[in-house]
Amino acid sequence: MSGRETIVVKCGGARGVAEGHVCADVAALRRDGRRVVLAHGGSADIDRLAAKLGVPQRQLVAPDGVVARYTDDATLHVLTLALAGAVKPRLVELLAREGVAAVGLTGLDGGLLVARRKGAQRALVDGRVVVVRDSHAGLLVGVNVQLLDALLDAGFLPVVSPPALADDGGAVNVDADRAAAAVAAALDASTLILLTRAPGVLRDPADESSALDTCPLPPSGSPPVWAEGGMGLKLVAAREALLQGVPEVVVADGAGERPVHAALAGGGTRIELEREGAAA
Ligand code: ADP
Repeated sequence: MSGRETIVVKCGGARGVAEGHVCADVAALRRDGRRVVLAHGGSADIDRLAAKLGVPQRQLVAPDGVVARYTDDATLHVLTLALAGAVKPRLVELLAREGVAAVGLTGLDGGLLVARRKGAQRALVDGRVVVVRDSHAGLLVGVNVQLLDALLDAGFLPVVSPPALADDGGAVNVDADRAAAAVAAALDASTLILLTRAPGVLRDPADESSALDTCPLPPSGSPPVWAEGGMGLKLVAAREALLQGVPEVVVADGAGERPVHAALAGGGTRIELEREGAAA
């Protein structure tokens, strides 16, 4: 472990996040002496590869409304190919161009992300309530922090993503924002930055000018109603990081010139835990 400040940046998987700018900015943080981990998803790449390979993509809607990818065998394969074979090498290459020695790891490598496999799940699929038994999904239960510390201490920049390693030795899909939150907590990071395609958490998802400066969340229960789809789960991830002691969690725009510096300088939305007894 080093006394230097650690920052975890998560790069959104949807189109519109400027990966080149994110990597240049991450490299600048490194030059400033920060320890940095880059986490990523890859929804656009997964969808594109699935379409090329003819693997239909379905969504699971849990009873609480949280939407997840239906990760059957074929989709797990596609997801692993897209994240480990396309997104990750692209980010590693962009970082290399900035003079950073990055090391790409999925959660499987060295047991970096350990998950408990979810059992049968009741969910809404294509509008019908069904019990899903063949979706490879997991809940994160551990991070191999020694592996990350060893890489960081040796001057490498870890680039991490799902899938995770399940307790039965198989691969499972986990949410990339929650993986970034778990990594930030495990490393005692000072800041977790979740870069996405929106300027922050919007009061009205249809109005780009409605980004909040701060977004207080209750310590448990559903996120506020105005957070829909991917943003709902992002807020769950942000809350997990805060509850595990990460002092600063920011949801910010991944499309700008210097997206990481802008977020550190006060841009985007700071997620906070509501004080107990505070009005909702
Ligand atoms: P990523 O791929 O960057 O991790 P997701 O696509 O899963 O992100 O979720 C972020 C998306 O959620 C935004 O791009 C936006 O379209 C949508 N969204 C829904 N509600 C909100 C909200 N209240 N504020 C901001 N974005 C929202």
